[in-house]
Amino acid sequence: MARLQLRNLEKVYGGAFKAVHGINLDVEEGEFMVLVGPSGCAKSTTLRMIAGLEEVTAGEIRIGERIVNTLEPGKRGIAMVFQNYALYPHMKVRTNLAFGLRIGGASKAEAAKAVEEVAKILEIEPLLDRLPKQLSGGQAQRVALGRALIKKPDVFLFDEPLSNLDAKLRASMRVRITDLHKRLKREGMASTVVYVTHDQTEAMTMGDRICVMKDGHIMQVATPKELYEQPANLFVAGFIGSPEMNVIEGHVDGGAFRTGGQLIQLGEALTSRLSARPERAALGIRPQHLTLATGINGALSAQLRGVEFMGHEVYLHALLDGREVTTVASAAEFERMDRSLDTIRLLPEAANMHIFDRDSGRNVSLRAQG
Ligand code: ADP
Ligand code: MG
Repeated sequence: MARLQLRNLEKVYGGAFKAVHGINLDVEEGEFMVLVGPSGCAKSTTLRMIAGLEEVTAGEIRIGERIVNTLEPGKRGIAMVFQNYALYPHMKVRTNLAFGLRIGGASKAEAAKAVEEVAKILEIEPLLDRLPKQLSGGQAQRVALGRALIKKPDVFLFDEPLSNLDAKLRASMRVRITDLHKRLKREGMASTVVYVTHDQTEAMTMGDRICVMKDGHIMQVATPKELYEQPANLFVAGFIGSPEMNVIEGHVDGGAFRTGGQLIQLGEALTSRLSARPERAALGIRPQHLTLATGINGALSAQLRGVEFMGHEVYLHALLDGREVTTVASAAEFERMDRSLDTIRLLPEAANMHIFDRDSGRNVSLRAQG
């Protein structure tokens, strides 16, 4: 277990394309940090530099007290799990698990003991004498996890390890991995984790903290709750949360937000927090906080365009001054709704609104932290 620090870390490919733009990140000892962002934002590049599989162009990587920039991968105290498992096809599970230890000089007996331990933790004891081709996707992924775990690395690196699994298995593996990390942490044995995914649900459910990336830049590092409630910019606001946050363009007009012909009252608390009143502004509000109004007061009118029935809730898509907005209604609310109407009334919750500067993307209505 060790702390991981990235300082002004840069990667330029082929002397021309800058993939990572001087990022700074601290991952605490035993922390589960998720790197999330769209495909191509340089998550894998960053992870591979930490692993020593990709040369660092500039900046520093520290694991514990050591600067590891030029240290070979085998000496960094890391283990990595990839999307495609990378098990040796001709070796039984038992041998796959023991292989790294044996190469590292462990005796046959030591390796066998470690295999038993890890197999027990991951509940793969019945699979030890099978070949990789005799495993399901989920089982193979557990073996791949075991092969990394057995090394007792200081830093555990994951690159989209669940992407090849179906949705149901992915959800159960999410829980398995985070439970395992918590369990090992209680026993003082947990590794520091950097887990890469493009999936915001995976990030939100697994991370102690999440680092959101875009185009080789870090957009925000925070706990899942803080990212959801206090997105620092429009990018994070749009990336985190499902369905996506509504972004309504307009401008701040006194204590209200004006969009097209309609006024949205911002309320005293939000107005007093504004650090700027941008000319080109956007009001952000999550679908869950834009509720169906029962009365007219303070409500916005929008034209209903589509309904998605999700079971316990219903997503309603509507046009507000020509722009698409989404609201989430409970199944019961939807039942009560007069569905002969195509105009619906929406009530934005002032406590959950954000104001963004559309030019810089910055959230100018953040609450004081602490
Ligand atoms: P992610 O894992 O977030 O999808 P990557 O780290 O794989 O992103 O890639 C980041 C950027 O660097 C992309 O634009 C990608 O095309 C580019 N890239 C990745 N590997 C190489 C390489 N070996 N040579 C040149 N460009 C690369
Ligand atoms: Mg990648």
